[in-house]
Amino acid sequence: MHKLCKRIVEDKKTLVGFGDFSKQHGLVKKHPTAPIKKFKNELRRYCDVIEIDEWGTSKTCNLCKSPIELYKNKVIRKKRDGTYTTPRLCQINSVIRCKLNECKLCCMDRDINASKNILLLLQLQKAGKKRPECFNPTNMNDYDTP
Ligand SMILES: [Zn+2]
Repeated sequence: MHKLCKRIVEDKKTLVGFGDFSKQHGLVKKHPTAPIKKFKNELRRYCDVIEIDEWGTSKTCNLCKSPIELYKNKVIRKKRDGTYTTPRLCQINSVIRCKLNECKLCCMDRDINASKNILLLLQLQKAGKKRPECFNPTNMNDYDTP
């Protein structure tokens, strides 16, 4: 446990953002909440630990704060007889683009976008500033799930 904490502190300097891991899959699937709490308390002894609500971070463009959507690509397949199938819109897993046409964000990896948003929230929270409204569930009625 100590080794792990030290490694994280060295990697990330003094500020550690703590997301709500309970909503995520994979990372702590086999070890639910309890060890995470212990880990968090342990980390606090080494550095600043800030808890971040990840709401909206995976659905908001990190550049212009507009909603994002899954990136779709037109796919045309060649059939065996040499003809082509009609173009079909395909969703590429985990690749997103911004809904705003003027925005540069396109073909961004979903996780990278989300972590940039989390970092932004972390910095705002650290500075004692308010979260942007797009990361506030009460202001986004058209959004149902985090
Ligand atoms: Zn955008």
